[in-house]
Amino acid sequence: MSDFDYDLFVIGGGSGGVRAARVAAGDTGARVALAEEDRYGGTCVIRGCVPKKLMVFASEYPAMIEDARAYGWDVAQDGFDWDAFKTRLQSELDRLEGVYRGLLKKNGVESFDQRARIADPHTVELADGTKKTAKHILVATGGWPVVPEFPGHELAITSNEMFHLDKLPESLLIVGGGYIACEFAGIMNGLGVQVTQFYRGAQILRGFDDEARGLICEEMCQNGVDVHLGTNVLEMSRDGDKIRVKATNGTERLFDKVMYATGRTPNTADMGLEEAGVALGRKGEIQVDEYSQTGVPSIYAIGDVTDRVNLTPVAIREGMAFVETVFRGNPTPVDHNLIPTAIFTQPEMGTVGLSEEDAAEQEPIEIYATSFRPMQQAFAGRAQRVLMKLIVSKASRKVLGCHIVAPGAGEMIQLAGIAVKMGATKEDFDRTVAVHPTMSEELVTLRQPVRSA
Ligand SMILES: Cc1cc2nc3c(=O)[nH]c(=O)nc-3n(C[C@H](O)[C@H](O)[C@H](O)COP(=O)(O)OP(=O)(O)OC[C@H]3O[C@@H](n4cnc5c(N)ncnc54)[C@H](O)[C@@H]3O)c2cc1C
Repeated sequence: MSDFDYDLFVIGGGSGGVRAARVAAGDTGARVALAEEDRYGGTCVIRGCVPKKLMVFASEYPAMIEDARAYGWDVAQDGFDWDAFKTRLQSELDRLEGVYRGLLKKNGVESFDQRARIADPHTVELADGTKKTAKHILVATGGWPVVPEFPGHELAITSNEMFHLDKLPESLLIVGGGYIACEFAGIMNGLGVQVTQFYRGAQILRGFDDEARGLICEEMCQNGVDVHLGTNVLEMSRDGDKIRVKATNGTERLFDKVMYATGRTPNTADMGLEEAGVALGRKGEIQVDEYSQTGVPSIYAIGDVTDRVNLTPVAIREGMAFVETVFRGNPTPVDHNLIPTAIFTQPEMGTVGLSEEDAAEQEPIEIYATSFRPMQQAFAGRAQRVLMKLIVSKASRKVLGCHIVAPGAGEMIQLAGIAVKMGATKEDFDRTVAVHPTMSEELVTLRQPVRSA
C-alpha cells in the first residue's frame, strides 16, 4: 500500500480520461479518482461527435424524402421541428452521460464533480480546496473552441452553442474551412438554413487529398451552401437582431448568426502544469513522449490536450496504452500511423493514409481513381458524384492512401482501413471479388492508373 491517496488521479472525464480511469480501476485493481468540472463524456458525447452525428442524420431527411418521391413514394414534408429534435437530442445526451458516470462507478472509480488543477507532481487540488495525492496523475482535459480577436468577435458563437440554439436561424455565416466548419455547413443547409461559409484559404479541408476536397466543395455548393474561398471577416457589429459582417472581399451582409470554427485550444490554462514542471507547446498543448508521459515522470497526458491527432478513438487508444504502460508494466507506445477517419460533410468522406500530394513528395506513385454517379441517387435524378481513389506505391505496390467521397464513406473506410493498415498491395485489392452492386466495389475493380506522380 502506497502513501498516496490514489494510484491514479485523472483530470477530465471525456473520452480518454473515462476510458483510462475505468480500465485502470476495473481491470488492474488500481485505486483511481477522476475529476470532471462539467459533464461526463466530454467533447465527444456532450458537444462533439455524438450530437453532431445526430444532427447530420436529422439534416439528411429532406433529401431522402425528396428522393423517396422519385422511387414512387407519396410522401409529404411538413417542416422540421427544431424544439422537438433538440429535446430528444438533449435527453439522449443525458442518457449517455449517465452511462459514462455509471461505468466509472461500476469500476470503482471515485468521481469528483469539480474542477481540478495540479498542485505538485503528486498532488491534485480540487476547486473546493481539497487536496488529493496520487502516484500518477493523468491530464485528459481536452480542448475548447476559440474565436480570434477582431472587432465584434464576441458576437460569434462556436460549435458548442450550435446544439442549444433557441431557434434555427434563417441565415448563418460559418467561418472556417476545417471539418467542423464544413460538417455544420452541411447540417444547417440540410435543416433549411441559408448557409454562407467563409474560408480564408484556397480550398476547404486543408490537409486532406486535393481531389477529394475539390469534389466535396463542389457538391456542398451544389447542395446550396454559399462557399466563399479566400475570404475572411474584417469586423462584425450588432444591427437590430442581426449581425452585420464586413468581409475581406468587400461585401457587407447581415446574418442571424455567425459561427466560428477556426481553431481549438488545449485546456491547459491555470492548471498548475508549468509550475509543476510540465512543458507546454506553442498552442499550450502538453508535450509528451510516445508513452504519453510528460517531462515530470508522475504526470501523463492523453487526448486533445496533447494536440496529437484530435479524434475520440485516438484519445481512447492513448488512454488504453497509458494503462498498459503504467499499470500492467508493458510499455506501449501509441501508433498514430494510418488512422482511418470520416468527415461527415454532405457528401461524406472516408480517408486513410497519405493524400496524393503527400505521397508524391515521398516516393513515385500511381493514382487509381474513379468518379461516378451512384445508382441510388442517380435514379432519383441527382447529379451528385462519388469518388473512389487509391494511392499506390510504384515500388512496393502498397496502397498508401484510400480516399472515398460517397454516402456511407465513413462505414466503408473503417473496413478499407484494415487492409491499408495490414499493408495490402493494389494486387491484394484486385484479388478481392467485388460486392455487386455497390459503390465500394469500384475499389477492387480499378484496372488502369489515371496518372503517375
Ligand atoms: C464539433 C466536434 C465534432 C467532432 N466530431 C468528431 C468525430 O466525428 N469523430 C471523432 O473521432 N472526433 C470528433 N471530434 C473530436 C473529439 O470530440 C475529441 O477528439 C475527443 O472528445 C477528445 O477527447 P479527450 O478525452 O481528449 O477530451 P474531451 O472529450 O474534451 O474531455 C475533456 C474533459 O475534461 C474536462 N475538464 C477540462 N478541464 C478540467 C479541469 N481542470 N478539471 C476537471 N475537468 C476538466 C472537460 O469538461 C471535458 O469533459 C469532434 C469534436 C468537435 C468539437
